[in-house]
Amino acid sequence: MISERIKPLVAGNSVIRAMFEEGKKMAEERGAENVFDFSIGNPNVPAPEAINRAMKEILDGEDPVKVHGYMSNAGFPETRKAVADNLNERFGTAFTEKNVIMTVGAGSALNVLLKTILDPGSEVIVFAPYFVEYDSYIGNYGGVRVMVQTSEEKGFLPDGKALVKAVTEKTRAVVINNPNNPTGVIYPEETIMEIAEVLREKEAEFGHPIYLVSDEPYRELAYGGRQVPFLTKYYNDTVVGYSYSKSLSLPGERIGYVLIPDESDGADEFIDAATIANRVSGCVNAPSLIQLAIGRCADLTCDISYYEDNAKLIYEGLTALGFSCVKPQGAFYLWVKAPGGDDKAFSQAAKKYGILMVPGTSFAGPGYVRISYCVARETIERALPEFKKLAEEVM
Ligand code: PLP
Repeated sequence: MISERIKPLVAGNSVIRAMFEEGKKMAEERGAENVFDFSIGNPNVPAPEAINRAMKEILDGEDPVKVHGYMSNAGFPETRKAVADNLNERFGTAFTEKNVIMTVGAGSALNVLLKTILDPGSEVIVFAPYFVEYDSYIGNYGGVRVMVQTSEEKGFLPDGKALVKAVTEKTRAVVINNPNNPTGVIYPEETIMEIAEVLREKEAEFGHPIYLVSDEPYRELAYGGRQVPFLTKYYNDTVVGYSYSKSLSLPGERIGYVLIPDESDGADEFIDAATIANRVSGCVNAPSLIQLAIGRCADLTCDISYYEDNAKLIYEGLTALGFSCVKPQGAFYLWVKAPGGDDKAFSQAAKKYGILMVPGTSFAGPGYVRISYCVARETIERALPEFKKLAEEVM
């Protein structure tokens, strides 16, 4: 017998995952070369060779008791120091290993943060469209998700006035994801400053901290020389959940971190509590071999220019066919308006041509679809004639 709480999750089992499975089935039926799977954000650029080398060297050269053993729940000190040093160098901050807790990817980082700060009934604000796993992460700790819409007219950027209306005495956190999944938009400095201003005012009004939880798996995937503002500089009560899943193409290794700056409210207590949250979540600590490898490779990224070239190819290709798309600024997603306005019908029609994309409804963004272009260049090249046929059918 399964629990009542898990039942709705089973029923609503991620459309994206379901599509991933559907893609595999379609490949068996019509041949892999005739399926264009743009459904899942699984990086196709290989991890840097240096990661594999580091892992081999660690296995061959380090004490096996250390490599395979338990460590401090926060992770290896040398890895946390390497992460802090890397951030300080890039953003002029002054973090130490104390501020960093290694986690099992961003999913776990967000769970650790939310477990640390939420009481049952605490409200967490998200800006739609958004990565809907947040609903489960928030629900895991009895939190209540509060959605604030963004709009095409305002470039899918959060709006301060809408945020003001959504914050209540119960608001404990606001989650932002920049660069954004699913829109591919980067929130500029002005947007961040507006959010920070609202939250500072509301903190003063209610007399308790409202944390800005920055979900950053796509931080390094920014195109056209764009800068992604580093939030701890704009708002003291910022905490960060980071992942190497995308920047280093390591989603299966499950590695990321939580960053809790000294400036944030009750930082020392927060860090201790988050370290315990990491343990009691059942993760105990992030996997040790990849932690040690990150300690040696924290300054690297995979070849992100590949995604930037893919972004240009698919954006220009679909725009030329008459589709209305948000010009990608970062991450590896293209947000496309569904002709006729029905995202489910549009993604269903696309399957006829072997094209898989996710209806925006799955991100609380109906009327659009998300195309993940972290695929081989040839997949896009060969898909474009199929998109042309689709355009002829639906427009
Ligand atoms: N947050 C966002 C916005 C994501 O898109 C993802 C994964 O796709 C995650 C968090 C989870 O990342 P991880 O694989 O590091 O758990």
